[in-house]
Amino acid sequence: MKFYELEPGDINLQKGTYNATYKWKLPGVSCPTCKTIWGGAGTNYPAVDLSVLPEARKYLKARLEENFDEYERLRDTVRPLLPPDDPLEPAATFGPLVGKARGPFSAFVHQYGDILLVQPTALEVLQGEGLRGLRGCRTEIRFSPKGIPELLDLHIEPRGLLHPDCIPRGTPPPCPKCGRHAFSLPKEPILDAASLPKDLDLFRLRNFATVLIVTERFKDVVERFELDGLTFRELPVR
Ligand SMILES: [Zn+2]
Repeated sequence: MKFYELEPGDINLQKGTYNATYKWKLPGVSCPTCKTIWGGAGTNYPAVDLSVLPEARKYLKARLEENFDEYERLRDTVRPLLPPDDPLEPAATFGPLVGKARGPFSAFVHQYGDILLVQPTALEVLQGEGLRGLRGCRTEIRFSPKGIPELLDLHIEPRGLLHPDCIPRGTPPPCPKCGRHAFSLPKEPILDAASLPKDLDLFRLRNFATVLIVTERFKDVVERFELDGLTFRELPVR
């Protein structure tokens, strides 16, 4: 099985644009151990609904939480709403995208690397062909022009890893307090064979959440049905 990275943002292939952010998020942190002020990108859980939490409003605003204990409390309050193994990090996001979008749209809109929007009819095609792990979530985006089909946001599970050789020698291990593991994505990423899921045709990497990966099966269906808006790049697996 071959695996492909979805490369974002080919404006020649993609139709329509949007400007939106996730409704709920964890705050960024100032870590007392590694002394870094940070929030991650790509740890997005659009299917996770924080409105069930009594303190949901505390997650509405993007902000920095100076008190690390309070960050941990907010994080641990969200924890039971996710599968136990799903990573949570500062600035992780939840729930629907809120904002504006203007169509008409291509079958896929991959404007930001870590978010993949899809036309409902295209999602039906993918699911009808038996592709696995595709969950379309409603957004709170205001779509125009009026009457246009509303794009769905795909909830993409964090599974699979970059191969350890992709992490430059000398990179400090993850911070034991906040979990930060800082390195840049190599120009030629390699996937770690043993970590790749066998039950999903779309996923994001656990140790580089902005990288979206699809299987050869996914690419074949997209090409056979001429679904537009995506750019594929095969990644080696080791
Ligand atoms: Zn830290």
